[in-house]
Amino acid sequence: MAITHAIVKVTQGCNIACKYCYVDHYGFGSKKLILMDIDVLESLFSRISEYVQSQELSRFTFYWHGGEPLLQPPSFYESVYEFQQKYLPSTKVTHLLQTNGVRLTRHYARLLKDLGIVTSISLDGPPEVNDALRVDHAGHPTSAKVIQGIEALRSEGHPLQILCVLGPAAMRRGAEIYRYFRSMDTVWMDFLLPHASLQHTTIDLASMPSQREFAQFFIDVYDEWMDEANSEICVRRLRDYTQLLLGAAPDTCIFSDDCSYIITVLPDGSIYPCDDLLSTFPEPLGTLQTHRLETIKVHPTLCKVCKNSTLMFAKECLECDYFDVCRSGCTNFRSDKNKSFANKYFYCEMSTLIIDHIRSDLLRRLSESGIRPLPSS
Ligand code: SF4
Ligand code: SF4
Repeated sequence: MAITHAIVKVTQGCNIACKYCYVDHYGFGSKKLILMDIDVLESLFSRISEYVQSQELSRFTFYWHGGEPLLQPPSFYESVYEFQQKYLPSTKVTHLLQTNGVRLTRHYARLLKDLGIVTSISLDGPPEVNDALRVDHAGHPTSAKVIQGIEALRSEGHPLQILCVLGPAAMRRGAEIYRYFRSMDTVWMDFLLPHASLQHTTIDLASMPSQREFAQFFIDVYDEWMDEANSEICVRRLRDYTQLLLGAAPDTCIFSDDCSYIITVLPDGSIYPCDDLLSTFPEPLGTLQTHRLETIKVHPTLCKVCKNSTLMFAKECLECDYFDVCRSGCTNFRSDKNKSFANKYFYCEMSTLIIDHIRSDLLRRLSESGIRPLPSS
């Protein structure tokens, strides 16, 4: 698979200090504010233009990330737009920006809308849940400022998208958190799990909820989402499980068997694999200044996480009845100290419980509609 996605770390450094931040845990954060400068941004577009032409790609996706991407001034994103016109005039480009929302003003929200940058907010639930782990550098809560940022986005007509990281404070509150996000007119939400594998975790294992608790959270969200029966609302992981159970394609990378189509670019122009893999592969694959993306694509590290790599899946997973839906989860969550991913997903038990619940629910709905599924042979 060609490289079609770039996670661009436009800053290293953040204006808040979430206690589970994987960027800090993996040593890629910075106490100092390091910003990508405009020359590096232009090199990025120039390299991607060269690659898009050589591979005859019609689409490319940018994830504007950090640290906190809105620590860049608005003029940085105006340059993104100018470089896109200059270097990728006939490519269908998608821009997604993930922000903690603290610096999101109406002016910034309007600009992002005008530039076609889809903006998603990081928020972990109502204030008492969010502020348990999402605090600023002085340890103060961040919710009030994030909610102001959300209001700015909504007043400028952005459809609200939320990324929520699950921690101990969210347990047993799945339905309530779903309703809280819907009360803000959230149309797209995803619930992320604390980074955990055989080699690292970003939250203390002693305070980590059990797999059953995580599963129950998702099951409660699923039930609430299904009861709402609104096809405009997407809960990403649950939508993907449901589609996979029904034989349709998912659209999240964690259900694919290839992580080599995503690269990460740091503010200095150094290039890495997907940022979730930085703990396993902390060495750069090259730099924008010195390497064409064709060379990066065949780097041995990207070959270890590409389709058909024998290091990607455990035999136990390939033989598992749940594999077609579980797909062994995000590659990062099954890494070990030998840089192999042929292990079970850290959240294996959680996956099976959620999949069982969705499968039974779909069968119940089928049965209630009067259609009787054939007994399995
Ligand atoms: S490491 Fe995880 S998040 Fe990154 S591309 Fe692979 S599956 Fe996706
Ligand atoms: S992680 Fe667990 S449920 Fe998923 S495929 Fe592997 S063994 Fe099966």
